[in-house]
Amino acid sequence: MRCSCFGGPSVDKKRGSAAETLHGIDGDLLQDVNHISYNELRSATDNFHSSNKIGRGGFGDVYKGTLRSGIQVAVKTLSAQSKQGVREFLNEIKTISNVRHPNLVELIGCCVQGANRILVYEYLENNSLDRALLGSRSTNIRLDWGRRSAICLGIARGLAFLHEELVPHIVHRDIKASNILLDKDLNPKIGDFGLAKLFPENITHISTRIAGTTGYLAPEYALGGQLTMKADVYSFGVLILEIISGRNSTKPSWGGMEKLLLEWAWQLHEEGRPLELVDPEMGEFPEEEVIRYIKVAFFCTQSAANRRPLTSQVVDMLSKQIRLNDKLLTAPGFFRDSDSASGGPSSMKKSTTDSTSYQMSSVPVTITEVTPR
Ligand code: ATP
Repeated sequence: MRCSCFGGPSVDKKRGSAAETLHGIDGDLLQDVNHISYNELRSATDNFHSSNKIGRGGFGDVYKGTLRSGIQVAVKTLSAQSKQGVREFLNEIKTISNVRHPNLVELIGCCVQGANRILVYEYLENNSLDRALLGSRSTNIRLDWGRRSAICLGIARGLAFLHEELVPHIVHRDIKASNILLDKDLNPKIGDFGLAKLFPENITHISTRIAGTTGYLAPEYALGGQLTMKADVYSFGVLILEIISGRNSTKPSWGGMEKLLLEWAWQLHEEGRPLELVDPEMGEFPEEEVIRYIKVAFFCTQSAANRRPLTSQVVDMLSKQIRLNDKLLTAPGFFRDSDSASGGPSSMKKSTTDSTSYQMSSVPVTITEVTPR
């Protein structure tokens, strides 16, 4: 599927014409995105008033605003100091302008005027998943199993769309709880495409510099820079465990144990007590279904990328009452910062067979990308 064009009612469309006025930004790139004037964004956010500030990321400050048409938006301003931000700004536009899916945050437009670089997104009322997972500790959101399972499935559907329906395919590269936003009904939407890569068809992998977040990085990618869609599948597997446990995978210790969340979850699985992973705040839950989701997380985080399912298969594994064959599971692979020094990924004690559950088609083409970040 190719993307359709957006035509928002309150958005000025200055296709092409904006390009000549922009310093150092390829005009062609901006032709496909709606240009929103700085004046409109200034009045939308009450002159970027601090009371409208809703967050701050690596990119810069984020404000809530209302466009003239009445649409609520999140206005993400690029801080003047951020060189990395300029690259991510352009990448975000290149990757997702005109891409629409119920589980992807919609980029409504951008503003490139004078020194200002601003991205404008649909506004999501319930903030990011990492905050919601902290539960009553920091928000009023209660995530029972029905909500958590729907969030897992929604994210998987968004990823399957990026990986398998769009052409060229898109690898997100930074799937994590803080990059999932929740709308008013707690539907999940994948955001932050600053690190995403377009992935032409007939390509098995891209060799690239590593970017992403420790705790979610697939070992073959973290150590060798080999990027396939299976790196996103891996990150998503870690995210499933976070959603079930309400814990953050980037923290390496649990109750005094120096263990990654994935390591701990696998240990519980090996010891036959997987449900000890479950967040005590979740309330009642259907045990078999939760166990199935935990197994899906292990399939997604298999050490060898070709043993991980395709994202559409993940959607089926989560949504259908398929019996998953544990015998196909081997210990998940994982990566710690110290692994880069030792030269190899960590692997947990192998416990079961070596047969492969899913294979990716392989076409022998490699792109090596040398652009520094
Ligand atoms: P990093 O840039 O380091 O990955 P981040 O993902 O938290 O961190 P941003 O994407 O800039 O950074 O977002 C910062 C905060 O702004 C988010 O945590 C969220 O609270 C808020 N935010 C971002 N986009 C939206 C949106 N579309 N709707 C509502 N709130 C948003």
